[in-house]
Amino acid sequence: MNINTLCIHGSEDKSHCTGSVSVPIYQTATYVHPAVGQSTGYDYSRVQNPTREQLEITLAKLENGVDAMAFSSGMAAVTAMMELFKIGDHIIASDDLYGGTHRLFCSISEKNGISFDFVNTSEASKIAEHIRPETKAIFIETPTNPLMKVSDIAAISAIAKQHGLFLIVDNTFLTPYFQNPIDLGADIVVHSGTKYLAGHNDTLAGFLVTRTAEISEKLRYIYKTTGACLAPFDSWLVMRGIKTLAVRMEKQQENAIRLANWLCQHPKVRSVYYVGLPTHPDFEVSLKQSRGFGAMISFKVDSEQTAIQLLQRVKLVLYAESLGGVESLITYPMLQTHADIPKEEREAKGIDETLLRLSVGLEHIDDIIADLEQALA
Ligand SMILES: *Cc1c(COP(=O)(O)O)cnc(C)c1O
Repeated sequence: MNINTLCIHGSEDKSHCTGSVSVPIYQTATYVHPAVGQSTGYDYSRVQNPTREQLEITLAKLENGVDAMAFSSGMAAVTAMMELFKIGDHIIASDDLYGGTHRLFCSISEKNGISFDFVNTSEASKIAEHIRPETKAIFIETPTNPLMKVSDIAAISAIAKQHGLFLIVDNTFLTPYFQNPIDLGADIVVHSGTKYLAGHNDTLAGFLVTRTAEISEKLRYIYKTTGACLAPFDSWLVMRGIKTLAVRMEKQQENAIRLANWLCQHPKVRSVYYVGLPTHPDFEVSLKQSRGFGAMISFKVDSEQTAIQLLQRVKLVLYAESLGGVESLITYPMLQTHADIPKEEREAKGIDETLLRLSVGLEHIDDIIADLEQALA
């Protein structure tokens, strides 16, 4: 089935008794047992909930996985995933990760005895140098946040397979609409469902999607034990969001391409980081592994003063954390998502006081451009 259709008809609930087209919200914590030792298949909503289950079925299909688990946030999903590892294990991760993931790895996971090498994974050949006997996994984000570096998933998967490592891919930025990491060899796909999947800046959610039943079994055990499951109403909101994923992604990308080209021409803009620009260093890799470029753009302006002025003057584009929703949002990575990364390390990566990150929404492109034009004037 085509992905556009799966977004709308991916769930399997046919609500036999009522004919309800929308999956009902099963707002229940627990379920009555038909008889001693018997179960309806639903015992307690931390473990199974029919609304969440339909969302999980949809996501597993969209990502070509065997199973998907819906969490209360993206960070809850990554935290649960880290329970696969134990004291002494080593993980190689992209050096341009989402700030929250970087914070989790460097504070909580390291405290738990797991060590990391942060590597520029867009140079796949450099990864093997960091593999040690204790290495268990490679964790990548592609494109990265906020510098939009692209990693070659199939090439990294070949390295992971050769050394018996898990490959984990955070697919939040492109979504299954544009990219399917499992098809390229990933073992686990991570999502912040808060972003494009839910798509309306109205709820938090996270996912882990698995390639094999074996990994799924381990993660399901962690899931029911640690308990950061997505609530029934939030599950319904994300399912509702996914119904329009295809049209939103297409239109937001169309807006992003227009905007990236407009930014490239602007005299106060010094550089534009957008995967869909043919001048992007990883453009060829993107064409090979993805069906699109998404709608995230970072750019550098001519000074800190211009950056601050822009943030203070925007009216339509909202100065707010997060991304992927219908509303265009602008963030200042240095002060927001990457505030916890030490200044020197952050600047060495290119995240400085002139860098801004834009999540291009669904407003009319002329209105978005007019707003940025007046803010940059
Ligand atoms: C937002 C985000 C996360 C964390 O997800 P939450 O839903 O905010 O907990 C993880 N990875 C990426 C790439 C993100 O953008």
